[in-house]
Amino acid sequence: MAVRNEKEQLLGHRDLSHKSLLQSDALYQYILDTSVHPREHESLKELREMTEKHPRNLMATPPDEGQFLSMLVKLVNAKNTMEIGVYTGYSLLSTALALPPDGKILALDANREYYDLGLPIIQKAGVAHKIDFREGPALPFLDELIKDESKKGSFDFVFVDADKDNYLNYHKRVIDLVKIGGLIGYDNTLWSGSVVAPPDAPLKDYVRRLLPHVLELNKHLAQDSRIEICQLPVGDGVTLCRRII
Ligand code: SAM
Ligand code: CA
Repeated sequence: MAVRNEKEQLLGHRDLSHKSLLQSDALYQYILDTSVHPREHESLKELREMTEKHPRNLMATPPDEGQFLSMLVKLVNAKNTMEIGVYTGYSLLSTALALPPDGKILALDANREYYDLGLPIIQKAGVAHKIDFREGPALPFLDELIKDESKKGSFDFVFVDADKDNYLNYHKRVIDLVKIGGLIGYDNTLWSGSVVAPPDAPLKDYVRRLLPHVLELNKHLAQDSRIEICQLPVGDGVTLCRRII
C-alpha cells in the first residue's frame, strides 16, 4: 500500500486523485471506488471530468467532500444556503442537487468565467433555478447583505471556500447571517497538512503565504463561544460550525 511521504504531503496536492489528507493513496482510491464514484450523480461526474481539464483544477472540491456536503444539506433540512467561492461549481451542484425543489443557494464568486464553464451542466441537471449567482468580491456583498435585517439568521447552511486570507472577515459576517442551529462549513482548514509543517518545510508559495491566516482562523473558531465546532479531515480539512447563540 503506497504511503505518501512527508514531502509530497506538504508540497500541496499534486492532482485531483490526491485531494485527500489520507496517508495512503490506495485507501483514498478505495473510498472513491467503493462509496463515491458509484453514487456520484451523472452531472457531477460530467462537471468533475470537465474541471479536471481546467488549468486551475486544483481548486475543485473533491467528490468525497461533495458527497459529504450533500449529506449535510439533507441532514439539516437546509432550504436557504450560501456558497462563497464557486469556481466551476462542483460543491454548488452537490448542494443544489441535495436541496428540495424550492431550495435556494446564494452563490458568490469574484470570477463568473469559471461558473460559466459549469453552468451548462448545472442547467442540464435541472437545478439552475435554485442558484442566485452574484459576481464580485464577497466581502462588500456580505456587508450589504447584513444591512438587511430580514437576511440575518436566514441561512440554514453556508459553505465558505474562497480567499483564505478573508475567512475571518467572512466569519464575522456569516455568523449573523446563519440561523441559530444552522451550519457554516469552512473549507481547507488543514491546508494540505501545512498547519503542522516545520518552518523549513518545502511548501508551495501560496500555501506558505496563506498558512498564517488558516492558523489564525482555526484558533479563532476554537475560541468562539457562539458556535460548536468539528474539524474533519475530509478533503483538505473542513471545519463545521454550528451556531448556538
Ligand atoms: N467550491 C469550489 C468548487 O467546489 O470547485 C471551489 C472554489 S475555489 C477553491 C475558490 C474560488 O473563490 C475561486 O473561484 C475564486 O474566483 C473565488 N474567490 C477568490 N477570492 C474571492 C473573493 N474575494 N470574493 C469572491 N470569490 C472569490
Ligand atoms: Ca476548497
